[in-house]
Amino acid sequence: MIVMYTRLLIGGRWSDSADEKRFDVVNPATGDVIAQVASAAPADALEACDSAATAQPGWAAKSPRERSEILMDCHEVLIEHSQEIADLITNENGKPQADALGEVAYAAEFLRWNAEEAARLHGSFGVSPAGDKRMIVRHPPVGVVLMITPWNFPAAMITRKAAPALAAGNTVVIKPAKDTPLTALLVGKLLGDAGVPAGVINIVPTYSAGEWFEAAVAHRAVRMVSFTGSTGVGRTLLRHSADRVLKTTMELGGNAPFIVFADADLDATVEGAMIAKMRHSAQTCTAANRFFVETPIYHEFVERFSETMKTVTLGNGFDPDVTCGPLINAAAVARVDDLVDKALQDGAKRIIGHGRSDEKGFFYDPTVLVDVDVPSAITEHEIFGPVAPIIPFSDADRMIEAANSTEMGLIAYVYTQDLARGLGVAESLEAGMVGVNRAAVSDAAAPFGGMKQSGLGREGASEGLYEFCETQYIAANW
Ligand code: NAD
Repeated sequence: MIVMYTRLLIGGRWSDSADEKRFDVVNPATGDVIAQVASAAPADALEACDSAATAQPGWAAKSPRERSEILMDCHEVLIEHSQEIADLITNENGKPQADALGEVAYAAEFLRWNAEEAARLHGSFGVSPAGDKRMIVRHPPVGVVLMITPWNFPAAMITRKAAPALAAGNTVVIKPAKDTPLTALLVGKLLGDAGVPAGVINIVPTYSAGEWFEAAVAHRAVRMVSFTGSTGVGRTLLRHSADRVLKTTMELGGNAPFIVFADADLDATVEGAMIAKMRHSAQTCTAANRFFVETPIYHEFVERFSETMKTVTLGNGFDPDVTCGPLINAAAVARVDDLVDKALQDGAKRIIGHGRSDEKGFFYDPTVLVDVDVPSAITEHEIFGPVAPIIPFSDADRMIEAANSTEMGLIAYVYTQDLARGLGVAESLEAGMVGVNRAAVSDAAAPFGGMKQSGLGREGASEGLYEFCETQYIAANW
């Protein structure tokens, strides 16, 4: 039996929402309602901000070592409860158990990394060039941080933000996505069990994100908004944050090019292409969205990649044979189907794939498209589903121009055995991250984030920690 927490976590206590509303959480593999979760009203958003504001001075006053040890205990508790968390992830997000367990390990790693970093948050000390003063630079916490997270990594998108925020002495109010609130609430409960004091982490799911956010962002104690989600919603949150000149970090959408040169090791490339496209049921911001393949190996790549795509087993993530779960909801299936239909109408050819499935649940068949127009809807939009458009190229400069001709710039992949060329191409790509002969790049110790409309700021590494800090300069004579 999977234990589910379905109430709001505010100030270390479970509560129903002020207006007693609840919303359904659906298992996307079956379409069944698995829980009804309290839907925070604006009054609950304000109460959570009050609670974070009350807890913040005490949390910031703890020594870095104390905060570090609590975060290390949080890491251990998440690892101990890996299976329980993974079960909830598969239940409400649908991803296969192997991916869900991988996500929990990734989520826990942010707690360990930031526990280690908490004790190494440095400022600086110097003498001014004119020799007239001492210059002290320190990094106090920002204060209360609002965190808004997506459904595709229900655990990791929370710890990737909360771990550095807590390490730096902030307190947080987290609004998880309405599709996946159960994992967030369980993670919040476990972090409390591990010793995070009441009020330091508040978790308030809601069905009414807009009015929730407008109330919370106006709370006087809130000093920062940290968002992961689509670029469209990010823009809206930036506009609201501007009214109060709040600090923001934005981890937004992607449109990753996956570039294959003729000299690439084809076995490794097909393996990498499958990871970049299909991991976590093809619903990652880092998913390969456009495949550019050099003409001498184009046909062989299309054939081998399509054959491998045919081996994907769609189904309920609890089935150990399943390698791809459902899309998150019916709207996601309709959106992917629409993009594929438009591409087919414009002359693209479908090598494999049968479109949406008639089975219960929100499934879409793995699909490979060739003869795709560039640019077209499917190369311009984030597909967020198991569909791979493959485009041939013969002129590397024109291919790089096409790869860069998007407002997104989160990640890109380059496969070639000529490392000098791989690194040269990487440097010419407008992407915050580049995988060279490698499709899995995320790491708690690396700065994750995008250029252009893919985001502002970074998560992970020391960059991710300092995002949650102010900078104070003290000019002193003595
Ligand atoms: P989304 O933008 O629809 O929702 C993200 C979050 O914003 C959810 O919690 C949602 O409830 C909330 N939200 C929506 N409207 C809001 C409003 N008006 N005010 C306040 N909150 C609001 O995105 P999604 O569908 O949950 O996630 C998929 C998107 O997230 C993709 O674009 C993907 O690329 C992106 N993503 C980016 C990263 C990254 O690190 N760059 C990581 C994961 C996902």
